[in-house]
Amino acid sequence: MNMKHFGAVALILSFPCLAEIAATSDLPDKNPCGDLDKEQYDGVRKDVKSVLDSKVIASINEQIAKRLEDARKKNPKVGVAVEIVKDWKSFQKMYNDDNPKTPLSDDDAKAKFDSLDAYTYTTAKDPPSIRVVLFCNRSFKDKVIDGKAKRVLVHELVHAKLYAMLIAGVEKSKLPFQENDDKEWKEGQDPRDRDHPGHPEDHNPDFHKEVEKLSKLL
Ligand SMILES: [Zn+2]
Repeated sequence: MNMKHFGAVALILSFPCLAEIAATSDLPDKNPCGDLDKEQYDGVRKDVKSVLDSKVIASINEQIAKRLEDARKKNPKVGVAVEIVKDWKSFQKMYNDDNPKTPLSDDDAKAKFDSLDAYTYTTAKDPPSIRVVLFCNRSFKDKVIDGKAKRVLVHELVHAKLYAMLIAGVEKSKLPFQENDDKEWKEGQDPRDRDHPGHPEDHNPDFHKEVEKLSKLL
């Protein structure tokens, strides 16, 4: 596939009231990112493997299982694939192949690629699955250089957790927390504080708390 298949997490929820994630990493040897040098790309591969092998997945899994139990839902099988794309066109193609009825326009795909480090979405396939797409852009490269690639992935896995619950039939209002941007969310929005740059990308305090909690498991 022209989408650079980067890694995959199979989220296998096979038993009622018990969820299990089987995480696998399937990273290509060849660096698909023109922007990253070999060492940086190898670092990303190591980071992805390290996150997928960590207790982050188990913790997410526990919470999904608990929420499904609460909602008395049947556990579905939800696949989460971690991908990387080299430019906005590759991202748009991947997204639109997955969501042919709600395609991203050129402007929208470009705006997302240019302004975010990564993007997570649910496919309109049957059964639906989730894609975590890392972007080979300047911003992600900076995160790699600063040793923050793992946190980018953990942040996206928090979105994936919420989407897995939605796929399972949990109502949006019953999610443990939301992913909407909170206008009051000011964590780290002072660029002068270089030692504590914070995480304005974390949307809201609850989302931030979750990313922080999971990041401590790495
Ligand atoms: Zn986000």
